[in-house]
Amino acid sequence: MADQLETLKQLQRLDGELYQLRKTQQDKPRELDQVNAQLAAQEAKVRTADEGLKKLQLAQKDREVELQTREGQVKKLQGQLFQVKTNKEYSALQREIDTLKADNSLLEESILRGFDAVDQAGKARQQEQGHLAKAQERTKVERQRIEQEQAVLEDQIGRLERERQGLVPDVPREALTMYERILVIRDGLALVPLLESSCGGCHRRLPPQVVNEVYLKAKLVMCESCSRILYFDEAHSKL
Ligand SMILES: [Zn+2]
Repeated sequence: MADQLETLKQLQRLDGELYQLRKTQQDKPRELDQVNAQLAAQEAKVRTADEGLKKLQLAQKDREVELQTREGQVKKLQGQLFQVKTNKEYSALQREIDTLKADNSLLEESILRGFDAVDQAGKARQQEQGHLAKAQERTKVERQRIEQEQAVLEDQIGRLERERQGLVPDVPREALTMYERILVIRDGLALVPLLESSCGGCHRRLPPQVVNEVYLKAKLVMCESCSRILYFDEAHSKL
């Protein structure tokens, strides 16, 4: 029984490590998701900036076409000035031309402001593009880091599992099944030392009879509260 407990202690050391490593391994896909989400967010910012720029450019084009049309109208009316017969008609036409010209100069101002807006939107887009380039670089580095960490974890887990396989035949089937069942329900900790007269897993105080049984090492003794297997060693337990 003492030998069996010694083997279980070695198993627990490996299984504790394996539990932590597998937990870290399970977090890796989430880390990768975060990295990908950050990149996607920056890609979306570039798209938004791009759409904003294109909208402004189109509006600017529309204004320019409109100005050309209106300037054509002014020219046409100016041509008609030579054909009118009366002063009254001439003045009316001239007023129409003046109104059109005033409108056009407002449109020209708006076109000038439009150039500034397009310019600024272009700079904003460029800036987001720059951020995207950095985000892509960062993503590449992060993906490599995560892949590398995953490879190291797999390696460590494989090594511990092989070491574990070497120990398993030394534990009787029934004890191993019990130990492994507790391992699953108690987050990778199935075997705990006696801490004075308390359980090293849940820290509940144990009845003297249970403590004695642990001390005797005649059979596997479980904590009544957390079901973990208890063992006694000099380093942890003082009786
Ligand atoms: Zn306990």
